[in-house]
Amino acid sequence: MILGATGSIGRSTADLIADHPDFIVEAVVGGSDAAALAAMARRLKARHAALHDERGLAALRAALAGSDTSAAAGEAAVIEAAQRPCDIVVAAIVGIAGLKPTFAALQPGRTMALANKECLVSAGSAFMAEVARRGVQLLPMDSEHNAIFQALNGRDASSVEQMVLTASGGPFLRWSAEAIEAADVAAALAHPNWSMGRKVTIDSAGLMNKGLELIEAQALFRIAPEKLDVVVHPQSVVHGMVSFSDGTVLAGLSVPDMRTPIAHCLGHPDRMATSCRRLDLAALGGLTFEAPDHARFPALQLAIDAMKTGQGLPTVLNAANELAVEAFLAGKIKFGDIARLVGRACEAALRHGEAKSPQTLAEAIGVDHIARERFATP
Ligand code: NAD
Ligand code: MG
Repeated sequence: MILGATGSIGRSTADLIADHPDFIVEAVVGGSDAAALAAMARRLKARHAALHDERGLAALRAALAGSDTSAAAGEAAVIEAAQRPCDIVVAAIVGIAGLKPTFAALQPGRTMALANKECLVSAGSAFMAEVARRGVQLLPMDSEHNAIFQALNGRDASSVEQMVLTASGGPFLRWSAEAIEAADVAAALAHPNWSMGRKVTIDSAGLMNKGLELIEAQALFRIAPEKLDVVVHPQSVVHGMVSFSDGTVLAGLSVPDMRTPIAHCLGHPDRMATSCRRLDLAALGGLTFEAPDHARFPALQLAIDAMKTGQGLPTVLNAANELAVEAFLAGKIKFGDIARLVGRACEAALRHGEAKSPQTLAEAIGVDHIARERFATP
């Protein structure tokens, strides 16, 4: 089953499945593009297609006429689809919209390949508790966490001294603070290494993505914030590293192509053959690493502070960031305003004492909701 089947991760997943006809696709789920969802359902011969936007139901039905795929639409239809029996679910809805369907997809005995990082950022404790309670095998699909997961190879974090996530640095790596402040949407969407959806691409341009990923790693691997670090690595070949107490460092490398971590999840515990480009280090010539520049990329520090403060701060950070990115993409604010507005939202939450740590899905939704209301009318 693929949640977020029409997105960047969903399409990459479909590319891999199309080469492996032994997969039977129980359901595909999408947001509002009925035609794209129907095309995906036809391509994968999915048994069922569910669209979040119920206004698209007629279009979805019409586009699926004559196929064996059943169709449904609306919030309840998405939850119902997420709960259908299957062995593995790819959870790749973007943003907080993925929260309820991804939780609903945590069904006993199932494997979940998780791309939606916002679930772990805004509701990490609740999500991991539900994963354990339901006996779900969780496989991280985000490339950095996938590399770390493979480096850990089943070990817990007790012998880990440090976990390092790499960041490409994004399109603004060598830009001045003034140029970043005023950057337009096209420049922020021009990621040098990765082809991704718009939200995560904007997050990457300001290094907010790396901050969200630190919080994601903290929840996934139950690791203390002090043991997590970020290094900028413009080639995006080393994705994540783990240093152990004996001084050994294990790293995960591949060309920057999301199909590689997706294939790892789909094949697990075996290896799935892919036609992805192979890594050629001699042709590449060199790999470089540098410390992130917090002055030009303030979003990273905001996320680190939220991670260290804990409580509901990561939930607030995530909510404010989603709204700020939306406003930036709509041309309403400058790039530099994203981090400024997120910082203000975190300060306000602390000031108002609203930042209690959410322990359940409902509590996380509550903290998210308050943060969104305050963002709209500060
Ligand atoms: P995208 O915007 O390309 O796709 C998002 C998908 O979610 C689409 O299929 C859309 O229809 C669906 N969707 C949106 N709202 C929905 C709703 N309310 N109900 C049901 N479906 C809905 O995003 P993406 O780049 O594929 O990213 C998906 C997730 O994976 C994000 O959380 C992102 O941070 C994470 N991620 C992406 C990449 C990448 O390379 N794209 C890498 C690592 C992690
Ligand atoms: Mg990533």
